[in-house]
Amino acid sequence: MGLLKTFVLGGIHPPENKLSAGQPVRTLKVPDQVVVPMGQNLGAPSKPVVKRGDKVKTGQLIAEAGGFISARIHSPVSGTVFKIDQVMDMSGYRRTAVIIKVDGDEWMEDIDRSDTLVTEINFSPEEIIEKVKDAGIVGMGGATFPTHVKLMPPPGKSADYLLINGVECEPYLTADHQLMLEKGAEIIVGTRLLMKALKVKKAVIGIENNKPDAIRQMTELAAKEEGITVQPLKVKYPQGGEKQLIKAVTGREVPSGKLPVEVGCVVQNVGTTFAVYEAVMKNKPLIERVVTVTGKALSNPSNLKVRIGTPIKFLVEEAGGLPEDTGKVIGGGPMMGKALATLDVPVVKGTSGVLLMREAESHRLPESPCIRCSKCTQVCPMGLEPFLLSRLSRMGRFEDAEKEKVMDCIECGSCQYTCPAHIPLLDYLRLGKNKVGALIRARSKK
Ligand code: SF4
Ligand code: SF4
Repeated sequence: MGLLKTFVLGGIHPPENKLSAGQPVRTLKVPDQVVVPMGQNLGAPSKPVVKRGDKVKTGQLIAEAGGFISARIHSPVSGTVFKIDQVMDMSGYRRTAVIIKVDGDEWMEDIDRSDTLVTEINFSPEEIIEKVKDAGIVGMGGATFPTHVKLMPPPGKSADYLLINGVECEPYLTADHQLMLEKGAEIIVGTRLLMKALKVKKAVIGIENNKPDAIRQMTELAAKEEGITVQPLKVKYPQGGEKQLIKAVTGREVPSGKLPVEVGCVVQNVGTTFAVYEAVMKNKPLIERVVTVTGKALSNPSNLKVRIGTPIKFLVEEAGGLPEDTGKVIGGGPMMGKALATLDVPVVKGTSGVLLMREAESHRLPESPCIRCSKCTQVCPMGLEPFLLSRLSRMGRFEDAEKEKVMDCIECGSCQYTCPAHIPLLDYLRLGKNKVGALIRARSKK
């Protein structure tokens, strides 16, 4: 297998806790009602093109992109638009959502719902990008950046490497792992489609070494393809960060404030790659995804195929029901996820997992003053000084935080995990990024 690669700077080794590893993907039944938020992608929210009372089919367009960096949204069910309202989503904010009462499950006629593997690619790069755009695909690893935009490098830039991210370094989550085991052949076709769209000759599928079955399977499948290889990676968090994956696989470093394409790389998650296969070869928009539902007290940690818009409570019920001593429910994994205010919030395109923490696990330890141990700096994979950035944010000195490169923070939480003083560093870093982002946007409007 050769020497395992990884990134150089920082990183941590949290317990993996992959409780749902090896659990076959089960399809969750369609709920009676779905809530489809219009803000499911990074960038501008989508704009509804349906109104109360409209009948919709599964896969029908219900929202257009709201700008260049935005994505279309399709109905995940068939039924009637009940209302368009402000509804709380995973962020905890109330935002516009289309609420649909379900009636049967009547799909758009042009969607191929069969499991037949389609391998012959008869589309031009432009046609592939158009189909990805039409299908409303966004980065499904959590970043939710519209995929078609990533496939169109800015003028003067081009990629020579496609990296498929099968790392899934976040503890507990196993959705990508299981998808590689069950849909490996489709992911390979998706990889070929992305290579063609980007006009690149080399693709590398990066997988952490704690998934030997996925490495074996994807290596066997890739061996039949020209230009696709699998790179096993050392288990180290956050190996799945875009910049960390690029460094580990290619040795290239993405400069501060720049995108991966600056160093000739485009990264796509395995879930996104599967969605690209379905969009182009099956005409299927992004209306469902695999979500890990997990936790130590949960009786049946699971990988579930779920329609977008399904309330989280249905996923928890399917995985054994809410354990009595649940202290906190997190959307995502324990490192980067966010606590949910209610189980009524719906699954969106970027939902990779739901983690139920027991009461005893869910309390933060009391914060004490910084002892200047520099552990947070040592583990930061972006070479930042988390103690300084969090202090600047706490003091409202956002211009100074910008100078100290707070926008480079990838919100991996390694610093907070390591801090012996239990300072909520990540909370302050997110606040700083939020405020500095607003400053940058205000400057660009002047
Ligand atoms: S959360 Fe940000 S500052 Fe903290 S370790 Fe990760 S990248 Fe560095
Ligand atoms: S790890 Fe915590 S205590 Fe140590 S320097 Fe960083 S913020 Fe201070």
